Amino acid sequence: MAQMNENYLKLPGNYLFSEIARRVNEFKNNNPEANIIRLGIGDVTRPLPQAVVEAMKKAVDEMGQPETFRGYGPEQGYDFLLEKIVEHDFTSRGINISQDEVFVSDGAKSDTANFQELFGTGNILAVTDPVYPVYVDSNVMAGRTGFIKENNQFDKIVYLPCTEENGMKPSLPTGKIDMIYLCFPNNPTGMTLTKEELKKWVDYAREHKSIILFDAAYEAFIQEEGVPHSIFEIEGAREVAVEFRSFSKTAGFTGTRCAYTIVPKDVKVFDTKGEAHSLNPLWLRRQTTKFNGVSYPVQAGAAAVFSTEGQQQVKENITYYMENAKIILNGLKNAGYKVFGGTNAPYIWLKTPDNMGSWEFFDKLMHEANVVGTPGAGFGANGEGYFRLTAFGTRKNTEKAVERIITKM
Ligand code: PLP
Repeated sequence: MAQMNENYLKLPGNYLFSEIARRVNEFKNNNPEANIIRLGIGDVTRPLPQAVVEAMKKAVDEMGQPETFRGYGPEQGYDFLLEKIVEHDFTSRGINISQDEVFVSDGAKSDTANFQELFGTGNILAVTDPVYPVYVDSNVMAGRTGFIKENNQFDKIVYLPCTEENGMKPSLPTGKIDMIYLCFPNNPTGMTLTKEELKKWVDYAREHKSIILFDAAYEAFIQEEGVPHSIFEIEGAREVAVEFRSFSKTAGFTGTRCAYTIVPKDVKVFDTKGEAHSLNPLWLRRQTTKFNGVSYPVQAGAAAVFSTEGQQQVKENITYYMENAKIILNGLKNAGYKVFGGTNAPYIWLKTPDNMGSWEFFDKLMHEANVVGTPGAGFGANGEGYFRLTAFGTRKNTEKAVERIITKM
């Protein structure tokens, strides 16, 4: 008789976005004529940049010719892409990252979920609350989180509340944490940290020999000067941080799939004897065993993101989405909503009116305004009473959704 991994039994209910899809489908079945606008799941609506499409077509043609056909590639990514990533995203910002510290993958979701495999199950982890649910659920599956309590929080996870009182910025933990998940610009709150604020985390991690798992999936949306794009802009971060990046939102790769993770060789974990081991070769070992690389045409497309035309086209898309963010932010502010984010991130985090529960607000918004967003409670206990809207819709739908929220809610 095959035994199950009972940690899966600890996972709370449906994955957030499956539950949203279930409610939307039920509503659509009962109201087939309703014109629903989706500003819920963080998927993009702009197509791939033309430079990416052309590079991918060329790569596919190469795959069809015996002289240029490629089979298995290097698990950690082709040199032509690694070079561009290092040069464009790090060297140009004065950050020292070498090519063998970059690991190309099929998504930041898989990387943020898989990376915990390198850590002992006895480690204490901290997450912000609210949080991107993948960090928590992947640790639950691994058996690192203890039992679930009545408030849907796990016994062994340290939750770092992001509330109105602290401006949606987590405070340093009081105890000793081994693994710290940070995501800035943040999903779901849309908030960022300054260099000084991020430095406090790096200093904490250096003092406690902890590791920061830094998710920078939204760095390309930063508009203001002085906001760090990478944790490696902070002195000492090379010793204590791993960074996750993605082409998904930056360049419309949500359906194409390409991302990368930076694992500096200086980051160390310790065995039970207290001996230090570099995380970089461990991640290489993990990836070469369990992953066979991203397809050549996709990596060729990702490399084209860094070409002059690619950069111009990506910038146009980001400007488009950030204009949507402004429309939502200003529209809701003028209507008297309390709103966060939306300046350096494609997410707007709003406080629900009259202390309404966030799932209650979800249902009301869907029924009365036919707009779908994401209930804050789905991101953690401190998300209750909040709601997330995304700037990834089309301009027309964004404008229509804001108008409906203002007039119908
Ligand atoms: N990290 C965060 C914070 C996200 O919000 C998302 C997607 O919504 C991801 C990672 C996943 O990105 P990818 O499409 O590269 O898997």
